[in-house]
Amino acid sequence: MSLPLQDPKSKNHLMQLYCESLTEYKRLSTREVKIGDLVLGRGHPIRVQTMTTTDTMDTIGTVEQSIRCIEAGSELIRITAPSKREAENLLNIKNELRRRGYITPIVADIHFTPNAAEIAARIVEKVRVNPGNYVDKKKFEIIEYSDAEYQEEIDRIRERFTPLVKICKQYGTAMRIGTNHGSLSDRIMSRYGDTPVGMVESAMEFLRIARDENYHQVVLSMKSSNPQVMVHAYRLLVQTMFDEFGECYPLHLGVTEAGDGEDGRIKSSIGIGTLLEDGLGDTIRVSLTEDPELEIPVCKNLVKRYDCRQSTADSQQSAAGIKNLKSEPVLPNIKLPYDPFNYQRRETVAIDNIGDKHVPVVIADLSKIEKITTEDLKSIGYTYDANLDKWNITDTAADYLFTASQELDFALPGTLKVIIYHKAWQNVRDKEKYFPILEAEQYMEKNFHGSSRINFIMVDSFSRGYSHPYLNQLLSKLKNDPTAVVCLSSTNKNAMQSIRRMFVELENNKVRNPVIIISDSNDDSMNESLIHYSVEIGALLLDGFCDGICLGHHFMNKAIQTDQRLMNSIAFGILQAARSRISKTEYISCPSCGRTLFDLQETTARIRAVTNHLKGVKIAIMGCIVNGPGEMADADFGYVGSGVGKITLYKGKEIVKRNVNSDVAVNELIGLLKEHDAWIEP
Ligand code: SF4
Repeated sequence: MSLPLQDPKSKNHLMQLYCESLTEYKRLSTREVKIGDLVLGRGHPIRVQTMTTTDTMDTIGTVEQSIRCIEAGSELIRITAPSKREAENLLNIKNELRRRGYITPIVADIHFTPNAAEIAARIVEKVRVNPGNYVDKKKFEIIEYSDAEYQEEIDRIRERFTPLVKICKQYGTAMRIGTNHGSLSDRIMSRYGDTPVGMVESAMEFLRIARDENYHQVVLSMKSSNPQVMVHAYRLLVQTMFDEFGECYPLHLGVTEAGDGEDGRIKSSIGIGTLLEDGLGDTIRVSLTEDPELEIPVCKNLVKRYDCRQSTADSQQSAAGIKNLKSEPVLPNIKLPYDPFNYQRRETVAIDNIGDKHVPVVIADLSKIEKITTEDLKSIGYTYDANLDKWNITDTAADYLFTASQELDFALPGTLKVIIYHKAWQNVRDKEKYFPILEAEQYMEKNFHGSSRINFIMVDSFSRGYSHPYLNQLLSKLKNDPTAVVCLSSTNKNAMQSIRRMFVELENNKVRNPVIIISDSNDDSMNESLIHYSVEIGALLLDGFCDGICLGHHFMNKAIQTDQRLMNSIAFGILQAARSRISKTEYISCPSCGRTLFDLQETTARIRAVTNHLKGVKIAIMGCIVNGPGEMADADFGYVGSGVGKITLYKGKEIVKRNVNSDVAVNELIGLLKEHDAWIEP
């Protein structure tokens, strides 16, 4: 296969190319890899997988947890093998699973121990190695290498890694070269820094050795707990593989240490979904600090979005089955006016508190409530105290309220403004707090008269096409209007691509008006809606687009009620996960595995309960001292298991308290937060 438009001479042109199409869903064609009886890559279905959290020496416990995951739909089961002992026990686990009738391929997860990898590769169907610690060690040291010294290190890796490649070749075992942002080696960090380029190079060094041995059963991953870093690294990896080899190996997608609950699901959906939208990804794992079988429904909901989107040709047939969505392709062959490998927020002018340096605003849609009362505002962060005649406002209070045509009969909290249809707006008294929203067609009418401060103009980025003369007129009017905020939505099945296409048009025409993204879901459950919003909006946020968001809901099943509190929480969760607007504490917690020596789920819940009011503080909760400190990325504070009943506390990457008893460790963590002025009383 070949990527379209690839022109090796044009650097700028190549910068755009990390996927088959930027304007419609097309899977990136990758090499086919066999893992036991399972085939992935080259257009095969996107495989879902998870990892056990039991002690690998507990054969029956691991087998039973694996079976729960398989029954939930996991197509691969990863099990940690920290030493030779565990690697050897994989044989007992595999035999017991096969005896019970389960043939799902097993993946051995290896860090630091080539000996364990070489044993496991003879037993299971796939081994995962981390190029950051397979040969190199990590001591957080900066080491200066001359080119010759650097080459010597690469030769050392070749010497140590080649035996594993040869075993895999001999036994028909597949391999994942799994780079983690948090565990890049000191060598890579010294030369490339803590960057997507370093992540890609770390994997490429190993991949080159595998290819030199004519071994191609390789899958790659570029995980990070920061979806932005992770997305840039995968894009760059695809581009680098194509540049160097003219072909691409399958991609395993995942966001590491995503945490649990709603936040973990949002973060994973943004990172994984952004790449899936562009057709990247052959297998996915959603890492949650929960029981591993609970990861599978999230994986399935993510993958399901693409079942009917294979290509425009397929979509013509399947469109009838897709609710209210049109399937025409977005105008293809765009040249991106932005760099998809580096984050930069789109340049805009500020209109009131929207755009420019303002954080993206949240618009709550309460238009379905017949008569909005002060009680209804509770769900969007405003609680009215009638005795004091005061509003209490939370950090996750919506900035605007869309009411359709309703004028409210109570005084609004100071920071809240109302968006109302233009027709109704003309009759409202309070023009300081109420602003009109209208269709682009109405806005273009000669006798249009709107607010002198903000007018919200609704544009369906699909319905008009892009070469239509109407669009030019609209863009030109918007460009010269210091009151116009664009509200972009799309009725296209490829909604993200269609909205992104419109951003390209805005950029090319130097239209600097702020843009609100309206994402509508017609999924039948809030779980699916959460994924839908996270993917659609997250993908645009990661490319620097968006000055505000509004989540809409049109459930096909009328029995489902919109949970406005959850919608508001999802909106702020998306902005936080994309690091666009920080409104709460951030938790970076690993999913736990056979190395974990304490109940990570229970501990995470305990820490969350006492720290969830610390807006902007990043707290890592990691299961083991071997990988935890490296993997906790850019956390401000770390709570890391360092032995049975023992916790080591970190400030950034520095150890501040070693082996604290776990029964007092949460209090010690609070003490540490206080010491560093990161604590406020709840
Ligand atoms: S950090 Fe967590 S998931 Fe990673 S190896 Fe340690 S215990 Fe396992």
